[in-house]
Amino acid sequence: MHIVHVGMEFDVLRENNKIANANYHLMKKNGIKAIEFMGSIGSGKTALIIKLAEKIRKKGLSACAIAGDVTGDDDQKRMKESGLDAVNCNTGHECHLDANLVRKSLEKIDLGKYDVIMIENVGNLVCPADFPLGADYRVVVISTTEGDDMVRKHHDIFLHSDVAILNKMDIADAVGVDPDVIMEDYRKLTGGLKTMYACSARTEGGIDEIMSVLSL
Ligand code: MG
Ligand code: ZN
Repeated sequence: MHIVHVGMEFDVLRENNKIANANYHLMKKNGIKAIEFMGSIGSGKTALIIKLAEKIRKKGLSACAIAGDVTGDDDQKRMKESGLDAVNCNTGHECHLDANLVRKSLEKIDLGKYDVIMIENVGNLVCPADFPLGADYRVVVISTTEGDDMVRKHHDIFLHSDVAILNKMDIADAVGVDPDVIMEDYRKLTGGLKTMYACSARTEGGIDEIMSVLSL
C-alpha cells in the first residue's frame, strides 16, 4: 500500500510542477514578476505584502495579490482596504496552495494590468515547500514571536525557498528572542551561503532592503 501511496504522490507533484511551469510562462508572457510568500499563521505575510505593495506603487508599478487561505477572505479584505488589488483563493480543505489553484486565480486577474503579482500561501511551514506555484521568487517569512528554533525545526521550507525573512524585529526583545540565533541557524543550513533578511512590516524597518533583494 505504501508504494502505491508514494506513486500517487509522485504523480501529484509532477502534475503540480507542470502547471507551475505553465503559470510561470503565462506571467512571463505578460511581463509580470511573481513572488510567493510562505510562512506560519501570524508571521506577518499579509502585512509584509501590503508594505511592499505601497513601495511598489511609489515606484510607479502596479501590483495585485492572490490571498490564499483555507477559508474566509480576511486577508483579501485587508489588502483591498490598503489599496492593493487582490483575488481570494480558498483551498477549502488543503493546508497549502497548489499550482492549479493559482492557475484558476490567474484567470480572474487582468494580467495586462500588472507588473507584480504577490501570492500569499496558506499559513503553514511544512507542505507548501513541495508545491511550487510558478513564482520567480519563493519567500519564507518567519517572525521573532515564533521562537528561535524555527529554522532548526523546518529545514525543508528554508531549503526550498529563495529568500528568508525574519519579521517583527521591533518586538524581538519583548518576546525574549535573539535574532542572531535564528540568522546563524539559517546561515549554517544554507552552507554559509545565504543571509536571512530582518525586517519589521509594522515599522517598515528593513523593507527597502527586501525590495532590492526581490529586484523590485
Ligand atoms: Mg495572512
Ligand atoms: Zn498542505
